[in-house]
Amino acid sequence: MKRDTGQDRAITKNWRPATKAIRSGTMRSEFGETSEALFLTSGYTYDCAEDAAARFNGEQSGMTYSRLQNPTVQMLEERIAVMEGAEACRATASGMAAMTAALLCQLEAGDHVVASRALFGSCRWLTDSLLPKFGIETTVIDGRDIDNWEQAITPKTKVFFFETPANPTMDVIDLRSVCDLARAKGIISVVDNAFATNVLQRPMEFGADIVAYSATKMMDGQGRVLAGAVCGTEEFIEEILLAFTRNTGPTLSAFNAWVVLKGLETLDLRIRKQSNNALEVGKFLEQRVEKILHPGLPSHPQHNLAMSQMEAAGPIFSLYVGGGRKQAHNLLNALNLIDISNNIGDSRSLMCHPASTTHHGLGEDARLEIGITEDMLRINVGLEDPIDLIEDLDQALSSVGL
Ligand SMILES: *Cc1c(COP(=O)(O)O)cnc(C)c1O
Repeated sequence: MKRDTGQDRAITKNWRPATKAIRSGTMRSEFGETSEALFLTSGYTYDCAEDAAARFNGEQSGMTYSRLQNPTVQMLEERIAVMEGAEACRATASGMAAMTAALLCQLEAGDHVVASRALFGSCRWLTDSLLPKFGIETTVIDGRDIDNWEQAITPKTKVFFFETPANPTMDVIDLRSVCDLARAKGIISVVDNAFATNVLQRPMEFGADIVAYSATKMMDGQGRVLAGAVCGTEEFIEEILLAFTRNTGPTLSAFNAWVVLKGLETLDLRIRKQSNNALEVGKFLEQRVEKILHPGLPSHPQHNLAMSQMEAAGPIFSLYVGGGRKQAHNLLNALNLIDISNNIGDSRSLMCHPASTTHHGLGEDARLEIGITEDMLRINVGLEDPIDLIEDLDQALSSVGL
């Protein structure tokens, strides 16, 4: 049954991105509140027993239980769908809940998945440990080369899974080529778009079938809540994903949905400003350290590709400081303003050492294969004045003799 969102999609889909991020999905209650209401309720009541029966058999629209529907969560889902240019969206309790649901809901024993090797640490656990446990074979490739995707396809290949830019090596995957190949072979492409968000990059415009999010990152944008989302066709979301999420329960709480709704209102502003700040900080670091990997700078080997599919490069990049783990840790310890934290997408600038934190579980060999060396650091550039950030990095670099 089609959901009543209280808004006409024919109108909202024509709004420009910044308008969508503030206005789409709004469902006002009888009080006419300006800001979205927070519905902290697990259940719903019915005027009569026949109405309850009609809701359960799908004849009547409306809510039945908050594992299945909640007005605040539904406002967020509609907003993300409209921003993405997707037919439908389902929110989840975290980004990993979104990735797990997007993959497991459509796979079964005997299926095969091809994934890019440069993935978020837990996404690699899905491809390397979870899926094989259930008889789903996975092949992990260097996704930067389209030939690798083509060669990895078997008659059983059902899904391509990748993120771009990838965490933390900033590998860029050619959305158009990989999604076109998937379409041509009847394979479903699943893109983790957490880094760029639909403000900077809309994979569906390049032919992606499913776009999944950690909304914990830029969408909340202020480091407050965990949240996730899966976008796709009405058919995929309603017929395939919904049965999985309804019955397994990775449901987003209404409170967290409300926080992300507020975050989306400023996403366009924040991500563009953070992207600009990251460019300034990147240009400074480029002069001071061995190497940086920033898709927005010409020194990145895939700069042109990145800029052909993204409106700006986003707030995150990595740097190589030389001297191994000790040097990298010393540099982090010398920071005064920038925090040591593995989170990203926050309005605060944060830095971490992927080899000993986010990608620790991957093991040394797999880390080196994708370029996560002991002297690599990752930075999320926030909304502070970039001059203060540069001064902090400057003193920290000097204190370790760089
Ligand atoms: C953070 C992140 C995830 C996981 O999201 P959570 O909200 O932490 O569960 C998945 N993919 C990418 C690219 C991420 O950055």
